[in-house]
Amino acid sequence: MNDKQINKQEIDLSYDKQHIWHPYTSMTTPIPCYPVDSANGCTISLTSGEVLVDGMSSWWACLFGYNVKELNEAATQQLAKMSHVMFGGLTHQPAVDLAKTLIEITPKGLEKVFFSDSGSVAVEVAMKMALQYWQSLGQNKTKFIALKKGYHGDTFAAMSVTDPEGSMHELYQDFVAKNYFTEQPSINFDQPWQQSAMDDLSTLLAENHQHIAALILEPIVQGAGGMHFYHPNYLKAARSLCDQYGVLLIADEIATGFGRTGKLFACEHADISPDILCLGKAITGGYMSFAATLATTKVATTISEGKAGVFMHGPTFMGNALACSVANANLKKLLSTDWQQLVFSISSQLNSQLLRCEQLPSVNKVRVLGAIGVVELHRSVDMVNIQKQFVNLGVWIRPFGKLIYVMPPYVASKKQINKLCDAIYQVCKKIDE
Ligand code: PMP
Repeated sequence: MNDKQINKQEIDLSYDKQHIWHPYTSMTTPIPCYPVDSANGCTISLTSGEVLVDGMSSWWACLFGYNVKELNEAATQQLAKMSHVMFGGLTHQPAVDLAKTLIEITPKGLEKVFFSDSGSVAVEVAMKMALQYWQSLGQNKTKFIALKKGYHGDTFAAMSVTDPEGSMHELYQDFVAKNYFTEQPSINFDQPWQQSAMDDLSTLLAENHQHIAALILEPIVQGAGGMHFYHPNYLKAARSLCDQYGVLLIADEIATGFGRTGKLFACEHADISPDILCLGKAITGGYMSFAATLATTKVATTISEGKAGVFMHGPTFMGNALACSVANANLKKLLSTDWQQLVFSISSQLNSQLLRCEQLPSVNKVRVLGAIGVVELHRSVDMVNIQKQFVNLGVWIRPFGKLIYVMPPYVASKKQINKLCDAIYQVCKKIDE
């Protein structure tokens, strides 16, 4: 590294600090950001020369790591043709191919696809679909049921179904729509099932179903709300209750979709199909912001035959051709890879290597599902300090609250997973010193 590079880095960082907002941060006391030069395979290279093993897949998105040959090629080929054309009145093969693949691989019955720009928008679209569905049927169903400790995004409708405590609700409470919240599913993924776990949802639906448009949930894994893995029977029973009470089921698989939990979609753990499905994050393999909301033919035709006659949403970058092409290449790679074996192998390694953290006094519980490993501490961590320790240990892991968690790219090597697990152990051990 020469002096010029060091200078450049310093200038960039101070400008960044003064002018650029990062996620969930203060503009006056921002947390430090590490300047990235490039990313390749399962590593992120900082401008300081350090190379970090990526434990985050850039927030669930990079299934095959960074700078992936096939995805680069798909992007450059598509760029030479067109990056984007408006989707109103125009269409293209990348969008058609992507819709075909999504319809083929997602749980059965989902046959109509709405492309949008991000996960939060996919959730907004799903909620609007549910509202318009009931409006078309002449029913006044305008509320949603969501799960406590759930998370569905940062836009207003998404916030209105995100856990109301300790989240953004408080800040915007006079503006956020009021919805119903049922208890967090109480039985863990691998615990013995008890039907009483459905009591709260069952009562809520029995008492309020006439106002409820849909139940929205993250199937099996509640992510940002606490990395909770719940029992597949909850999902199965929730599907039945929705059918019983005439309420739509929206599955938000923005984080869980495309194999992360060991099934291609987390709904498969319970063998259910939702009425509406939200996808995002890993759809383009982490290359660009893109999302999709899928609906059943019944939902789509009911909306289309209703008073409005159309579904009322149409973002500027809907069906972006560049994103569709990269998504097609990503899904082609995923489906032609033995991804299940890759996820299984990461899962086994996380299980065996993270478990020793449970012996540390700072650690409450370790849990692993698919290619997701979570170490839950007794107390919240000082994120800035812990982040620095991880960087010093050569890994990129970003904890929140009491949770230190990893969801590495599926192609991470045994050595790289080992490095992630070892760094977590070292950092947890240090907390106890
Ligand atoms: N739903 C879930 C389950 C998520 O994890 C996220 C993102 N963390 C979102 C929705 C929102 O997606 P985005 O950040 O792309 O808007």
